[in-house]
Amino acid sequence: MVKATNLGYPRIGPRRELKTALEGCWSGRLAAAELGAAAQAIRGANWRLQAELGIDHVPCNDFSLYDQVLDTAAMVGAVPERFAWDGDSVGLETLFAMARGTQDAPPMEMTKWFDTNYHYIVPEFEPAQRFRLASRKPIDEFEEAKALGIETRPVLVGPLSFLLLGKSRDDAFAPISLLDELLAVYEQVLAGLAEAGAAWVQIDEPILALDLDADARAAFAHAYARLAGATKLRLLVTSYFEDLGDNLALALSLPVAGVHLDLVRGPDQLDRALDAAPADLTLSLGVVDGRNVWRTDLGRALGVVERAVEKLGRERVLVAPSCSLLHVPLDFDAETGLDDELKGWLAFAKQKLSELAVLAKGANEGRAAMAGALAESDAAIERRRASPRIHSPAVKQRAAAVTDDMLRRQSPFAQRRQAQRARIDLPAFPTTTIGSFPQTAEVREARAQYRRGERDSASYQAFLEAEIAKAVRLQEEIGLDVLVHGEFERNDMVQYFGEKLDGFLVTKAGWVQSYGSRYVKPPIIYGDIARPSQMTVKWSRYAQSLTERPIKGMLTGPVTIMQWSFVRDDQPRAETCKQIALALRDEVLDLEAAGLRIVQIDEPALREGLPLHRADWDGYLKWAVECFRLASSGVRDETQIHSHMCYSEFNDIISSIAAMDADVISIEASRSQMELLESFTDFEYPNEIGPGVYDIHSPRVPPDDEIVRLLTRASEVLDADQLWVNPDCGLKTRGWAEVKPSLVNMVAAARRLRALRVA
Ligand code: GLN
Ligand code: ZN
Repeated sequence: MVKATNLGYPRIGPRRELKTALEGCWSGRLAAAELGAAAQAIRGANWRLQAELGIDHVPCNDFSLYDQVLDTAAMVGAVPERFAWDGDSVGLETLFAMARGTQDAPPMEMTKWFDTNYHYIVPEFEPAQRFRLASRKPIDEFEEAKALGIETRPVLVGPLSFLLLGKSRDDAFAPISLLDELLAVYEQVLAGLAEAGAAWVQIDEPILALDLDADARAAFAHAYARLAGATKLRLLVTSYFEDLGDNLALALSLPVAGVHLDLVRGPDQLDRALDAAPADLTLSLGVVDGRNVWRTDLGRALGVVERAVEKLGRERVLVAPSCSLLHVPLDFDAETGLDDELKGWLAFAKQKLSELAVLAKGANEGRAAMAGALAESDAAIERRRASPRIHSPAVKQRAAAVTDDMLRRQSPFAQRRQAQRARIDLPAFPTTTIGSFPQTAEVREARAQYRRGERDSASYQAFLEAEIAKAVRLQEEIGLDVLVHGEFERNDMVQYFGEKLDGFLVTKAGWVQSYGSRYVKPPIIYGDIARPSQMTVKWSRYAQSLTERPIKGMLTGPVTIMQWSFVRDDQPRAETCKQIALALRDEVLDLEAAGLRIVQIDEPALREGLPLHRADWDGYLKWAVECFRLASSGVRDETQIHSHMCYSEFNDIISSIAAMDADVISIEASRSQMELLESFTDFEYPNEIGPGVYDIHSPRVPPDDEIVRLLTRASEVLDADQLWVNPDCGLKTRGWAEVKPSLVNMVAAARRLRALRVA
């Protein structure tokens, strides 16, 4: 029989219970046991729901208190030395220290999970690395589900993905050399799972979706030969987010029971896989989109499943989401405000489970057994395609009429720089921040009151103005050179714009985990995009009215707005991005007209939009950079355009970053110890740049010596003349108690450098 399966379910809880419990525990309000109970309740509810909705392979160990890669590091005892771990098993305190740092030990690095907005903790390896079983979490969770009467399929992050996604401080040393040592621990875990009674184990190897070199491929063959030889469990190797390309043959040749394919991102690989699959391999067909919120075209998806069944037989086919459902919101039944038309277009995680169940039923019992669901799906798909809410002729015409001129500033940077220096008086090593200031409990409460109608618009406006005024005064006191208004009016840097632009739908409870206890609510882009009125000008103008110093207008860039939204699947991303860019271009010009001398357009998501295969990079970078330029290039020479990017690893796209032609960029660097600077030894970055000198992901206050040291390193590869001094990212997640002293130290460091320079 064809089985309905799932690869992973959101762990945040329907009312974000996990966040509440985690943050309660971190602040000391909640005991560890209470966090444990909250987590257990979420797991139990998830398992039951999936079983009830007809999922045959329900995952376990897809749950995590923080991140599944971090859990894997804990499982194999890969705890960096600075966390002074010497226990038998990795306890909560160590786990959270690794994720969040302590005053003595900076946290482990965090980076984007492939092309998603989920962040994983980057494993750290050293040549003398040893592994040992240090957490039985997969086995414990399997047993926990079993005690509830639910047979689950444990999920492990695969050994190759774990090693290849990790990093080592020592360049001469390749983590992959640790493979055999690591496999010994995986064997122990598999033995434990077998003993506990598991049948299948899902091993996630998303790294298969990237370009792999010969060593990595050989390591795959070796690793799975060894694991398959060591266990009787049925191993399902899963990968997702892309067509496997050259790695398809490798995946199919592994001596495992099953291979999962993402047939949403890589639909064409099915035929190749059906031709090449060895005789008893099971294929798991990822036909329900785990990365987007649109209702599945059941007729089309069933067609795919039927093709596989015809070739392989029902016993060798699993129906699955394309990837873990971690990346979509939980349940649109929670969306009370949505009109029926829009609702009819959507499917969140829970609805996708039902789609999977109905697809398996259709594959087993024939189309007649699901005729009602099929007809309903066809009708919904057709209603969406034809809806007038999607199409705006004016927007389409404007996008089609964009000319090359609109993608270029009036003059080259050298000339703009002169004009900007004449207008904006700044010292060497100018200091600034990235935009947001702490979103305190009061700020969030005022917004919630306004949203609930308990505060009228005038009083909310007055509250925000008072916050802006406080922030401006404080920045002047601290001695910052370029000020920001603080973004107090924004719930989120993308949602805020989603609420103001046509063509976007903002959900009430469509939360998706971004990292740790941080969740985002990506808007849904369903139609052509336009800006009915100004979005940010009022706040920036007000801030500027309070000070002589320059205020930076603050916008989220087109690529980032698109990347952090669920996008429509009925037109190319490039087209959607261009529509956003045009709307932003108008806003930039309005800010300039309102007297703002500097406008920052954040593009932190530029890198995560990169296609997973290198061969596709240039095409993406070309339109992404053009969209940024379309948004930013309408201004006069003397208006300074800034951009901001985070999540490091910019070395390989630095020339595209330069091609954005922002006058100034601020870029994350401190968490990776200024690794970023390597790129400037070979590539002369032409414009101005502020490599982040203060890691805002941790509550730690950076001493000014440390900042001076980072900046000194930066000035070895960049001209002192080019350098700005700023944190890694916005400060909204921090408290004022850390922000103030950190910024004071940052300004002190800039002053020390200025003094050195004069001396
Ligand atoms: N301007 C935004 C802020 O400061 C940028 C955030 C980001 O890069 N993620 O919050
Ligand atoms: Zn940032």
